[in-house]
Amino acid sequence: MGVRSGIIDAYGDYEDVLRDIRRFTSLAHGSDALTKALLGNYALLDKGRPLEGLRNSIFQTALSRDSRCPLCERSQVCALDHFLPKSNFPEYSILADNLIPVCERCNRLKGDEFGRADGLLMFHAYFDEFPDIEILLAEIEVESTVSVRYSLHQSDEIDNSTFKRVEKQFKVLDLFGFYQMEAVAELTDQIDLYDQTYDSCGDTGLRSILGALARGAERKGVNHWKAALYRALSRNQEFCGGGYRKLLAAPMT
Ligand SMILES: [Zn+2]
Repeated sequence: MGVRSGIIDAYGDYEDVLRDIRRFTSLAHGSDALTKALLGNYALLDKGRPLEGLRNSIFQTALSRDSRCPLCERSQVCALDHFLPKSNFPEYSILADNLIPVCERCNRLKGDEFGRADGLLMFHAYFDEFPDIEILLAEIEVESTVSVRYSLHQSDEIDNSTFKRVEKQFKVLDLFGFYQMEAVAELTDQIDLYDQTYDSCGDTGLRSILGALARGAERKGVNHWKAALYRALSRNQEFCGGGYRKLLAAPMT
């Protein structure tokens, strides 16, 4: 009974734990037997087991975001991430609030990261809002090829700890490199559209299409990787003046 009520209390404390992770010690800390028993509960979510419905309903929530992973906003969800890793916090191994549908890549790269050392947690898909102030910038370079480089820029409107969490999320998930590759691939796919637009309406037409694509992507958030990409492209004179053709010469770097 002691363990059962301890777990119910832990469930009630979940949001407090998220607020100050460093002060929190797991209920199972130091007990291998209890850790093992709590971890074993996770198998209850398997197909044909009593909590299969919980797994299914969590994946349903992903449909509302187009089934895109909330951590990278790019790939399809296919796994459940334990926001607080189950190896460190086995009491939350089947708490729905702690189970986030994510993509394979983010699940692998996030691993057991939870901010024990610096207290900084990544963004929780159910409890946190990613900042809606523009901090993700894309820089476009048109030379022998077109290259895209992403970076984060601090804003006075965002507190330091929030900005550090964003930086941490980008670092742990290697999002700069990931978005850079995705951006070049996305633009290369659109080269025919750019050609047609440029031929009929010139650089003004191309600028306007790219601006519209930026506004469309901003509906997903001003810091969505496509929003930053198209904002930068629509302002880039060389790209809009025909430099986009150099995409065809682009080895992805
Ligand atoms: Zn992802």
